Amino acid sequence: MLTRRQHQEARDRAAAMMRGAGVGLTDKEVAAMDVADFGLGHLEAEGAQIVSFFNSERVSAKVIALFPGQTLPEHWHSAVGEDPGKEETIRVIGGTAYVYIPGEESIACGRIPAGKDGCYSVRHEIVMRPGDQITLEPGVKHWFQAGSEGAVMFSFSSAARCALDPFTDPHIVRVTKITD
Ligand code: ZN
Repeated sequence: MLTRRQHQEARDRAAAMMRGAGVGLTDKEVAAMDVADFGLGHLEAEGAQIVSFFNSERVSAKVIALFPGQTLPEHWHSAVGEDPGKEETIRVIGGTAYVYIPGEESIACGRIPAGKDGCYSVRHEIVMRPGDQITLEPGVKHWFQAGSEGAVMFSFSSAARCALDPFTDPHIVRVTKITD
């Protein structure tokens, strides 16, 4: 849950980061930004700010800003009906992002959010800077964490059905509640 004020502050801060990375955004897109606290109530630690450019039945494009040290929690994109699940390419365009995928544990630059050991199972670290990109196949668990200067990244994918994505942390609620 976020207060309206927290939501607006995060939205404006993230919009400045996105625009600072060279992404042109309309005020309407900024107003519609998804400030996601994942129902955990500690946005700065675990959360993400996401602007969706479009999301059709087949393709989707977004820009994601993470504040310094902010973590987008571990999740994967599972099959929905005849769709095998979202294939997603993440391309960093500003700052530094640590991406975690299955493989040999190599977490060094980032860290597991405090008290959340059981919610972050994949720990193979890839350090990504502007121009670096990675394609995540459907069903592959992944999570992201920004470096000390934050991170801005594009997400290009097949159709996104984010509200249905499974997360490792059972406490996560994908749709953010905003209160006055
Ligand atoms: Zn994802």
